[in-house]
Amino acid sequence: MSLPVPFADLHAQYLTIQPEIDRAIATVIRESAFIRGPHVQRFETQFAEAVGAKHCVSCANGTDSLFIAMHGLGVKPGDEVIAPAHSWISTTETITQAGGKVVFCDTDASTYTLDATQLEALITPRTVGIIPVHLYGQAADMPAIMAIAAKHKLWVIEDCAQAHLARIDGRMVGSFGNAASYSFYPGKNLGAMGDAGAVTTNDAALADRMAMFARHGGLTKGDHQIEGINSRLDGLQAAILSVKLPHLPAWTSGRQRVARQYDELLAGIPGLQTPTVAAGREHVYHLYVVQHERRDALAAALAGKNIQTAINYPVALPFLPAYARLGHQPSDFPNAWRNQSRILSLPIFPEMREDQMQAVSDAIREFAVGSADAT
Ligand SMILES: *Cc1c(COP(=O)(O)O)cnc(C)c1O
Repeated sequence: MSLPVPFADLHAQYLTIQPEIDRAIATVIRESAFIRGPHVQRFETQFAEAVGAKHCVSCANGTDSLFIAMHGLGVKPGDEVIAPAHSWISTTETITQAGGKVVFCDTDASTYTLDATQLEALITPRTVGIIPVHLYGQAADMPAIMAIAAKHKLWVIEDCAQAHLARIDGRMVGSFGNAASYSFYPGKNLGAMGDAGAVTTNDAALADRMAMFARHGGLTKGDHQIEGINSRLDGLQAAILSVKLPHLPAWTSGRQRVARQYDELLAGIPGLQTPTVAAGREHVYHLYVVQHERRDALAAALAGKNIQTAINYPVALPFLPAYARLGHQPSDFPNAWRNQSRILSLPIFPEMREDQMQAVSDAIREFAVGSADAT
């Protein structure tokens, strides 16, 4: 019997900070500070500081945060917004909801982030913005993307949902574009105990427009300058996030430690490709994604040993039924098309133990060597 390995272990993390979390929850309940109030304000201030932004507008989740940012930037019907072909659907469904038109750009074959070399060819007179995604925890090529955005006067929203504290040449993600969108979904690198999200920006006027839109169109109660939406972080989640935020650097190092260990354990396994980190990027490993030609068989072999894996994401966005209307072909996005059937996310979490990593790598080696012999 080999060791069962979960994909992530949120309870293990809770146990490391249980007294602090329990105290924070009890405080919010005692104060009945459930909506807005001091806990939400404090987390907004702390999070802005942690990511080096001037303003933080908290909201209900990391999908709303993208929608709110696009409203703040003034997306109008017919406006084209460029986003990577391989991401979670939040990145692009919100473009449509904001009234814009989704334009996909292929991802880079090895880093899975928006391929900046293909970006400029997609720009038309109707293009207004770009949403690069720091997928799996590795920053997209922001210097190249920002240069193109500046040349064509486009706004940039960084989708940082998987990349809290990731850096490029020492500079934090989220600090390049006009706004940065974060998710605190429980499994994200900084996770609440329910849904939560935020947008950060250095632009005070944009921060006000976003806050106004997220809060029924006004900055104070009873004030409605515009029609908005209701998207708020609640007091319990804010208090939980404030407890967790100071631990984020150590948890990030924990993920990086697991990734380094995997890199060593998995080196030289025939047919297996471990993650590529581009020069100057500090990967925060929300996910540790490998590639294998026989991905489904590998996933089944691991499942047979009670090792959980995931596929992020099994169908690239242009090939989903949701985007059938755009009529895209595999040859439009060859990298995303090829990767979608080869990628596999291995278990990774900051508290992961050596014996768990060993069990994963032993199982992969057994599968890969066995199937290499068979061919
Ligand atoms: C998780 C995620 C989101 C959405 O966040 P939610 O909080 O689940 O709404 C958006 N973009 C990416 C890349 C994500 O991984």
